[in-house]
Order: sequence, then structure tokens, then C-alpha cells
Amino acid sequence: MAFNIAVDGPAGAGKSTIARKVAEALSCIYVDTGAMYRAMALFFLREGILPEDEKAISEACDRITVTLSSREGEQQVFLNGENVNGLIRTEEVGIMASRTSVYGRVREKLTQLQREMARTTDLIMDGRDIGTCVLPEAQVKVYLTASVETRGKRRFLELQEKGQECELEKICQDIRQRDMQDMNREISPLRQAEDAVLIDSSDMTIEEVVAEILALVRK
Ligand code: C5P
Repeated sequence: MAFNIAVDGPAGAGKSTIARKVAEALSCIYVDTGAMYRAMALFFLREGILPEDEKAISEACDRITVTLSSREGEQQVFLNGENVNGLIRTEEVGIMASRTSVYGRVREKLTQLQREMARTTDLIMDGRDIGTCVLPEAQVKVYLTASVETRGKRRFLELQEKGQECELEKICQDIRQRDMQDMNREISPLRQAEDAVLIDSSDMTIEEVVAEILALVRK
């Protein structure tokens, strides 16, 4: 069996930055599962499908192929063969991903793909349900969180750096809404796996969190 690290936690907790660094340190693959839900959400948005229309979303799933590849160590996500990496990081796509990831068809499709990758490859995978549902046998599990204010500020700075217009209060509101949706959905809600180690990064640097995860791996 391959060596798998599962990292779960709410939006903006720093999962991707940290998982990327851990992957670098261990020379393993980093898989960002949120990007896969975002790619599907982009498809639904482009088709004009409403997030509450489960029937249309489930049917649309049969017309979607999501694949991943790596370019210069960066994960690239493809939607029906098109590289959509540059198109999926907006708040609109994030909110659509959160609203459509509640559906069984969407989750089944991506869960299957994620398990397939983890079966044969040493990797660190981040998301919402990796330790609880996708990879319950992962050798290391981390639940990474931070306060809403800290996460909001981080997201705000990230978007500002990219030159995207944003408002801190609106971002915090979106985060609260996304937390609520992710934690209260029926299928695979966001929660800490019983055997996951909780790390609250509110008052920690990125390096400190990375070091803590590497120490867990060595143990
Ligand atoms: O992590 P990111 O913010 O990119 O994820 C976007 C949305 O995709 C989340 O709000 C969540 O609803 C969904 N998601 C999920 N399960 C995962 C990863 C992401 O439901 N494993």
C-alpha cells in the first residue's frame, strides 16, 4: 500500500500551502481535491445549471471528465481536456463548488478518482472528507483549522495579491457560509476523523505547521 497523508479542514485554513510544502519535503505528490470540485462547479456554471437542481447536476456528471497532471510541481486540473487551473479560484466558483459538492453523484465520481490515485502513489491529499471517507486507512491524518478572522484575513491578502477586488467582511461572511454548508451536509460532512491530529494554525507560522506534520510522519 502507498503512503498516504490526509489533510482536512475548513476553507482558508492553509491546507494547500502547507500540503504543498510537506509534499516538497517528502518528495511525494500533492493532490488538491478542492480543485476537482471547483472544476465540476465551473462546468455547472458554464451550463447555466442552478445549484439546487440536483437532477440536472447528476445528469451533467456523466458529461464531465476531471483529470489531474503536474507541471513544474504544480497540480493542473483539466475539465474535459481543458486546463482550467486559471479559472477555478474565484469566490463564485468556490461557492458553487460548496453548494454542488453536497450531491451523491458529484462526490462518488471524485471520491473514486481520488482513491484510485492514492492506491498506487505516495501522496498528501487535502480536502474535507479525506480522513473520514476517501482514505480512512491513511497512515497520517491531520485536521487543520484556524479562526474565521484569521482565515478571512489570509484569503483577503491572497486575493489582493492577485489584484482581485475584495472586501474583508464579505470574505468572512462567505467563509462562515461555506463552513456551515460543508459541516452540515448529509453526505461526507466536514469533520475531524477520530484518529486525526488537530492543528489550529491561528497563531502558528506556515513553517511551524509543516514541521509538526513532518514530525507526525516520522513518528
Ligand atoms: O478547498 P476548496 O475551497 O478549494 O474547496 C471548494 C469546495 O469543494 C469546498 O467548500 C467543499 O464544499 C468542496 N470540497 C469537498 N470535499 C473535498 C474538497 C472540497 O466537498 N474533499
